[in-house]
Amino acid sequence: MQFTDSHCHLDFIEFDSSRQQLIAACHDANIQRFIVPGITAKRWSRVLQLCQEYPCAKPCLGLHPWWIDKATPADLQRLQHYLSTEKVYAVGEIGIDGAIADIEKQSDYFAQQLEIANQFQLPVIIHHRKSHHLIRPLLKQSKPQHSGVIHAFSGNYQQAKVYLDLGFKLGIGGTISYQRAKTTRATVAKLPLESILLETDAPAMPLQGFQGEINSPLQINNVFTHLCRLRSEPAHQIAEQIENNVEQLFGFS
Ligand SMILES: [Zn+2]
Repeated sequence: MQFTDSHCHLDFIEFDSSRQQLIAACHDANIQRFIVPGITAKRWSRVLQLCQEYPCAKPCLGLHPWWIDKATPADLQRLQHYLSTEKVYAVGEIGIDGAIADIEKQSDYFAQQLEIANQFQLPVIIHHRKSHHLIRPLLKQSKPQHSGVIHAFSGNYQQAKVYLDLGFKLGIGGTISYQRAKTTRATVAKLPLESILLETDAPAMPLQGFQGEINSPLQINNVFTHLCRLRSEPAHQIAEQIENNVEQLFGFS
């Protein structure tokens, strides 16, 4: 079985002293590929450079809602410039975080980046927190033409269904390792297998039992074990379908 960490921030300084060994350890553990979303215009060149150094890491570029307060229209132009000159696999990480300020600016930049993704025929990687109700209308208004993934999905089946109907995949990560995440676990148990991607969001979002530690893409195997416990299909079938989903969404052949 081969795996992809469909969302990890390998460019972050947390990995500066261990990156090479970590990637080697991941390959030994059959984690063959990493999708690395960019979060601010300042860091995009670092993401691109890292992915050039490690071809198993695939770059995505976007303006993350947490840092949107500092974003400017020039950043959107720079994004378009990079997308027209570099090999980039998705626009992300973009989205709306309902727990932080300035929903209006977040929504504006989110909508503009959805349009840019369509313009460059790319999928999108979407961050959500307390914001399904804010994201939904914008996805209907600027419907992503090349699909996308709801990163670190949590929510009920009805909320999931809205994204599935739009052709989206759902990124499943460490959340399902927490027994208290009852609603999300119940949703993940009945999602179509074709809609699931595995992710860690490393260095953030440690799994149950690893709280307070720096999360690592090596934990993909652990997320997979938790996923298999929630599902009725055999493990090899789950793994194979999820790799197909990754390839389909990001256009790997
Ligand atoms: Zn992220």
